[in-house]
Amino acid sequence: MLVLSALIPVNQRSETESQFDAGHEKQAQRFAMSEAMTLNSPPPLIDIGANLGHESFVHDLDVVIQHARDVGIVHMIVTGTSLHATQRAQEIAEQHPGFLSITAGIHPHEASTCSQEVLAQIGALARCGNVVAVGETGLDFNRDFSPRPMQEEIFQQQLQLACEIGKPVFLHQRDAHSRFLPILKNFRDQLARGGVVHCFTGERDELYDYLDLDMYIGITGWICDERRGQHLLEMVADIPPERLLLETDAPYLLPRTLRPRPKSRRNEPRFLPEVLRTVAMATGRTEREVALSSTANAQRLFDLDNCQSS
Ligand SMILES: [Zn+2]
Repeated sequence: MLVLSALIPVNQRSETESQFDAGHEKQAQRFAMSEAMTLNSPPPLIDIGANLGHESFVHDLDVVIQHARDVGIVHMIVTGTSLHATQRAQEIAEQHPGFLSITAGIHPHEASTCSQEVLAQIGALARCGNVVAVGETGLDFNRDFSPRPMQEEIFQQQLQLACEIGKPVFLHQRDAHSRFLPILKNFRDQLARGGVVHCFTGERDELYDYLDLDMYIGITGWICDERRGQHLLEMVADIPPERLLLETDAPYLLPRTLRPRPKSRRNEPRFLPEVLRTVAMATGRTEREVALSSTANAQRLFDLDNCQSS
């Protein structure tokens, strides 16, 4: 069993837990809250999307994970984007039980290489106790690395899988909203646990379409990009606090606002506080508020308190 409360230092605990534990005593909460403020410790964060199986992390993964802990990250979800990546994510997660969980899925870029046999293997992996979502799955008509009809087919099969096993979906959509939305809508009623539109980069109408379907919205360092993330800065306040999740999508999407600029262009989970800072600034909320609500959201959506170590 993964007990997140054990991972969050006592002085930070009660604010996060209070979202879940209605029986928690108010007095104790207030005490812990003021204590946490005094100590000025970093608020607990969850990176809901880190590609830690990426080859760029092979040589120093333990250091990367330690650095993540150092900035207050209490849990991370390692993204599965192919059968191989999901298997690799599983290996890594087994070395860090409780701290890492994973998603199991086929990215739309990989759709053309995905056979029914591969999908069956993803289906088996997705049932493991530390797999908290099906995905990354969806449609990417920006790069079109796989033919669109094939992307749609593989997407629908993974939505079906999520419905069958009762886990949320971890969704990717780029330049494909008009096809993506009706497909998602079709499955939404059977998707008991909903899901997250990860690395949301779309326009306001797309945002509202996903919110109407009660989906969570994942915000990455894209929002820190003055060239292409300006619209996100203006719109992030429209995301209800109880629907917003934070992610790095490491090693991609290094936040461009980081100062001093890191020597390497590799993004890492330890830079999640920069996304937090930007979201807090753009929404007029404190970093602590955004951290606590997004952490509570991740725990709720992915049922992290009940996920197992393998
Ligand atoms: Zn993605």
